[in-house]
Amino acid sequence: MQVVADIHIHSRFARGTSKDMNFPNLEKFAALKGVNIVGTGDFTHPEWLKEIKSELTDDGNGLFSHKNGKTRFVLTTEVSNIYQQDNATRKVHNIIIAPSVEVVEQINERLSKYGKLASDGRPILGIPCTQLVEEIMSVSPDNVVIPAHIWTPWFSVFGSKSGFDSIKDCYQDQLKHIRAIETGLSSDPAMNWRLSQLDKFSIISNSDCHSYWPWRFGREANVLELQQLDYKSLLSSLLSRDPKKFLYTIEVEPAYGKYHFDGHRDCNYVLDPAQSKKQNSICGVCRKKLTIGVAHRVEELADRPEGYVPKNAVPFKTLLPLSELVAAVVNQQLGTKKVWDQTMKLIAAFGSELNVLLEAPEIKLSELTNPALVSAIMKNREGKIRVKPGYDGVYGVPLLDEKIEIRKNPQTGLGQF
Ligand SMILES: [Zn+2]
Ligand SMILES: [Zn+2]
Repeated sequence: MQVVADIHIHSRFARGTSKDMNFPNLEKFAALKGVNIVGTGDFTHPEWLKEIKSELTDDGNGLFSHKNGKTRFVLTTEVSNIYQQDNATRKVHNIIIAPSVEVVEQINERLSKYGKLASDGRPILGIPCTQLVEEIMSVSPDNVVIPAHIWTPWFSVFGSKSGFDSIKDCYQDQLKHIRAIETGLSSDPAMNWRLSQLDKFSIISNSDCHSYWPWRFGREANVLELQQLDYKSLLSSLLSRDPKKFLYTIEVEPAYGKYHFDGHRDCNYVLDPAQSKKQNSICGVCRKKLTIGVAHRVEELADRPEGYVPKNAVPFKTLLPLSELVAAVVNQQLGTKKVWDQTMKLIAAFGSELNVLLEAPEIKLSELTNPALVSAIMKNREGKIRVKPGYDGVYGVPLLDEKIEIRKNPQTGLGQF
């Protein structure tokens, strides 16, 4: 069976997260988006784990159900490893996936020695990634550790501010347990294919959302062929690197991510990697060093030219969320009633947002909505919507016309996530 899985999300117990991130909402929005398997997120948090245990039913096969029985949940969390290595501070985020509540309780007991699990849904642990992997894998060989959004500047294995140039330097003798990496919003598989050091990993994509709003939840996801709906089959496909089992990933245009180009948010200053190199990545406003974005960092570490495609690579589809298209067409902010109503009308007609984006016939769309939106949906399906690149924490902005910037000031507040 074909499933869509978004396994990296956060509960309301994580910092900067919508207070409505609870299981009823997650289930509701998973159905609207067309996501079948959702990570619980934050299983390291005692209060959220209580809710996992009281609100979800254990299917007995490593997956969990909520009330309507359609959405499945898998136990996941993200931790922030902050430590010193080779005279530098390292900050790396890791996703952990576990097969049962019993295993999660053992993981939490061990990790509580290294940080305050109750302080944040994504706790800070004062141990190196090597020690994290060792601890997690010694609890159960069915556990999985995945380096999260590997390119973001501040908190990732390749991050320009606190990471490494080689994944081996980070995970060392524990690299044998690492089987996948997460691209993050600002990079897509094609960018990652340019590094031969990543060839042996499955390339996965998740939303990392902090709110269930339809332009966040499931904006990146994994489309998998599963033998059965259980933990073992899920992981077998997710880690397979086999396009027969891992059909494709859904990716936003990397420029949409908030760390694509180099820049300074406060100085309202942005440069592409080539321009940035020319001026030694110095800000034209405050004269300080710019926050180096993902595109620049990939260029630094790549050992292959742009456009390189490995043999048997799992393909991907570039797709912006429907709400973004509607917002651009009606020229309003994402959270407005008009954007919401038009988005929901189409979702209601075709069953889910992914159905609208990927499958809805043009002719049927035309019966329900205006030509500008139909054209945006068709263009999006071909991955042809241009995006004004994001930088230093500012999201990119979709452009429907080459010259006109449709929407200014993408988001504020929770919009940061
Ligand atoms: Zn993270
Ligand atoms: Zn500046």
